[in-house]
Amino acid sequence: MHLILIGPPGSGKGTQAKKIAKEFHLDHISTGDLLRNNPDLTKEQKELLNSGKLIPDMMMLDIVKARLNKCHGRGWILDGYPRTIAQAHLLENALEDGTVKVLYFTLDTKELVDRITGRLSCPACGSVFHKITRPPKKDNLCDNCGEPLIHRKDDTEEVIKKRLDTYFTYTDPVVKYYQDKNRFYNIACGNKHSIDEIFETIKDKL
Ligand code: AMP
Repeated sequence: MHLILIGPPGSGKGTQAKKIAKEFHLDHISTGDLLRNNPDLTKEQKELLNSGKLIPDMMMLDIVKARLNKCHGRGWILDGYPRTIAQAHLLENALEDGTVKVLYFTLDTKELVDRITGRLSCPACGSVFHKITRPPKKDNLCDNCGEPLIHRKDDTEEVIKKRLDTYFTYTDPVVKYYQDKNRFYNIACGNKHSIDEIFETIKDKL
């Protein structure tokens, strides 16, 4: 199975991607994590990352292609890619088998901002918590691997506005692109649905 997850920052794509990957034995490819864990990023690229702007499409293609090659025929989930129409075209050209399913995560912008400003992320395993709605069991330590949690540099209120702007400008058109040509599923992921409920909905659709 090949899956693309589309949704604004804070919509819970990463959390659901981890659960889907485990359930269906897929590789979870988060382009944000690949960039944050890349020791070779230039100062300019780090600045783009920390300010909520997009990394150039051709660089992203190289990163994604290299990671897809490591899947060796296993299925995968793309989390955070493609984010522009150009990336969607480049991906389509790069894939031998173009059959992908798309999950589109939707929720209110106000909920997004609350979620992101309270978010605590594990730099080691990528797990995500929230100061109020999903606190870790031990103060500031990851429940899964025990590493200290961080507040991402791009999870501040100022940068979030930029990230949401970027999302609505560049990624909204990607939604329309896939709606017309792929198996496309809307996933409501606002606060009235628990993580497990959303996961059950996703399993039903898949
Ligand atoms: P994320 O963890 O998905 O929220 O991504 C964090 C940041 O990484 C984004 O704000 C961008 O700066 C960069 N990034 C991640 N994926 C992409 C992509 N597909 N294209 C361009 N930049 C990306």
